[in-house]
Amino acid sequence: MSLDPGARRAILDAVDALREESVETLQRLVRCPSTLGNEAPALEEMARLYASLGLAPRRIPTDPAALAAHPGFSPPLIGYEGRDNVVAVHAPRGARKGRSLVLQGHVDVVPEGAAEMWTTPPFAPAIRDGRMYGRGAGDMKAGLVSACMAFKALRLAGLQPAAEVQMHAVVEEECTGNGALACMLALPKADAVIIPEPGPGVDGLYTAEVGVVWAWVTVSGRPAHVRDMQAGINAIEAATFIAARFKDYEAEMNRAERIHPAFRGVNHPVNVNLGTIEGGEWNSSVPTRARIGLRVGVMMGYTAAQARADIERLVADASRDERLRGARVKLEFKGFMADPCLFDTEAEIVRLARRSYAEATGGTLRDYPATGLTDGRHFVLHQGTPVACFGPDAQDIHGIDENVGLESMHGITRTIALTLAEWCGVERSEA
Ligand SMILES: [Zn+2]
Repeated sequence: MSLDPGARRAILDAVDALREESVETLQRLVRCPSTLGNEAPALEEMARLYASLGLAPRRIPTDPAALAAHPGFSPPLIGYEGRDNVVAVHAPRGARKGRSLVLQGHVDVVPEGAAEMWTTPPFAPAIRDGRMYGRGAGDMKAGLVSACMAFKALRLAGLQPAAEVQMHAVVEEECTGNGALACMLALPKADAVIIPEPGPGVDGLYTAEVGVVWAWVTVSGRPAHVRDMQAGINAIEAATFIAARFKDYEAEMNRAERIHPAFRGVNHPVNVNLGTIEGGEWNSSVPTRARIGLRVGVMMGYTAAQARADIERLVADASRDERLRGARVKLEFKGFMADPCLFDTEAEIVRLARRSYAEATGGTLRDYPATGLTDGRHFVLHQGTPVACFGPDAQDIHGIDENVGLESMHGITRTIALTLAEWCGVERSEA
């Protein structure tokens, strides 16, 4: 489906006219501290945004009981009450002419970390040198805004997509992916999906992503006063001992012969992160309990289930060690149980996105084999829908002073607008 040059120009002009509004909308979203369990205000904001596009937002609950048997399901960390995903569906006026599309993004953000280390507060968006700083600015509120503004630009140009367009704003991309799964299953399968996740310091297109398994190890030791320290089992030391075993595992999984060609040239693609530790009661008491939380990467060609079995074996082996005698070790899997995923970079939606990007920005989207994951895997692995996952130049996502390039975000909005118009076709807008 080819879009005439007049329409292309009108759409790009409309995106340019929406530039200020895009920045203000992103600021509003970043002000919502939408960490796990606290997504409601950001979801409200997305519902208002969808409504402002002339769409009728509706809520899609994440129901663990209904999803539990699905291979894409991950065991949740908390309940889902009061944090239903938001979707909105555009239906074309006439008979459908083009191909349908999902524009998907997540509202959840990871914790801000040490807030005092930020140059400006993490949930008070600040603009410096053409970049917006704030937790979630890059990952991935800029992408959510870009998708909405792309849709709005068509309307401003007097047009609308001539095929169904689904907008999904979901929770828990950062820990389970269950929000995305719930929305995918609740709505009809589309012809393609766009997910504007951020690029790694450049505008990037995801070519592959690793899988991830979250594991939790709780060690119960034997309490004692420090004067009888030998009589006790130090739960913190025991947990640290087990964590060290994961480092050996990580080295093994990064051996060259295990690395899939999609990740060739990526330094250390399989990462094991000791992310959380809690434990102990008193400086002068041998600690009775410690809990560590680990994130284990899964290389392409391997599955989350295999990694899970490895972890079970590794923890069982470590527990049998002489130094842990008498300690109780409990292993749990909560959070990601996610397989790795290869994106079809020859898919028509991806080729179109690349062409649109070149036209919209004059540049080239950089291929990005990601050592983290996105919600894109659900559509690829469990629905067979091609995904174009690409987005703006973001830095320090999950770190201190996360930021996104506003010029880059603007280019991504222009890219999505052209891609949307060409993929779906356009008709005269009724709004
Ligand atoms: Zn993300």
